[in-house]
Amino acid sequence: MSTPTPAPTPTPIFTQMQQVDAEQVLFWRDAASGARGVIVLHSTALGPIMAGVRMWPYADEAAALADGLPLAQAMTLKASAAGLNLGGGTCLVIGDPAQEQREELLLAVGRVIAQFGGRFIPVNDVGTTQADMHVLARVTSPVCAFGDPSPFTALGVLESIRAARQALDGIAQLQGLRVVVQGAGNLGSRVVGLLRNEGADVLLSDVNAERAEQVAEQFGATVIDPDTALATPCDVLAPCALGAVVNDASLPTLACRMLIGGANSILATPRHADELRERGILFVPDYITNAGGVIYLEEQLLGHDGARTEQRVRGIGAVVGQIIGTAARDGVTTAQVAHALAVQRLQAAAT
Ligand code: NAD
Repeated sequence: MSTPTPAPTPTPIFTQMQQVDAEQVLFWRDAASGARGVIVLHSTALGPIMAGVRMWPYADEAAALADGLPLAQAMTLKASAAGLNLGGGTCLVIGDPAQEQREELLLAVGRVIAQFGGRFIPVNDVGTTQADMHVLARVTSPVCAFGDPSPFTALGVLESIRAARQALDGIAQLQGLRVVVQGAGNLGSRVVGLLRNEGADVLLSDVNAERAEQVAEQFGATVIDPDTALATPCDVLAPCALGAVVNDASLPTLACRMLIGGANSILATPRHADELRERGILFVPDYITNAGGVIYLEEQLLGHDGARTEQRVRGIGAVVGQIIGTAARDGVTTAQVAHALAVQRLQAAAT
């Protein structure tokens, strides 16, 4: 008699759950397509969740959750601090984004999202496209597919830099300000363009050398080495590529007066905000500065016009000014003030 094959050891998802702070977490599997993933509804206190559908070959559900949970929490804070009537969450799909046969998988994702009855509005994120959102729209509604929000995200970053300059130097003009922009992709290239329009002196880096050269030539900026970008002396360091670029290794090397960028989760840990303050570097939390894109998407969802969107996005500058002023007055970090601002609205909505 042959020895039976032992059953596979189940992934210990629930050992991770003690760490989870969210309204609802759904682990799902679709028997027909074999698709599986995790949906996090972090908070619906302020309204429906408009959040990304991220497709990635995660090792398992626990790995997907570890990636998505901080993102979902940041979305809640971002929407709240920006005054949006939206919540935070994320939809993580375990799969290879390069696979050609993705329609069945996407339809499975759409059917799971449909169960939330409009409480989760999907938008494209890493590994998914606007075209994918149109596939989801065949089985769930509403979906968010209103084009690239990057121009509005970039405008919010610009206004954040202006507000910080006003606070530190007493002037709103950006002429001659020396800014290092890390990353010249959708967002970074637009930040470079806006800064150059205002006469700032822009140095940019991108690991894609061709892209860096092309953006620098288009806007009259200077390309610098990606390996030394963070340590380049400047007034403003604007990370617009990856998260966690400010960490134990890089923080001591920073040579900027202000750290204001559009990348999500610029700081590796919250404690880095304290260390930046001790070093005299003015940091503005990224979920405040990069809210322009989500403001744009909410306005599109509500069917409003572009002028109103621009006015609201430029309003990020006033929020940044208020955060910097309160932090200076109370002797705390801007991260603490921003967090309190976001939590205040959430608590008010909960009572
Ligand atoms: P993107 O993929 O278009 O651009 C990222 C760029 O960064 C690429 O050109 C890449 O080559 C470059 N890059 C990667 N690693 C680098 C490194 N170590 N040094 C220098 N360059 C590097 O992405 P994007 O849409 O421009 O988004 C950039 C960041 O901003 C992400 O963290 C994203 O989550 C965040 N963000 C973007 C938006 C938006 O509207 N695009 C909104 C909110 C937040």
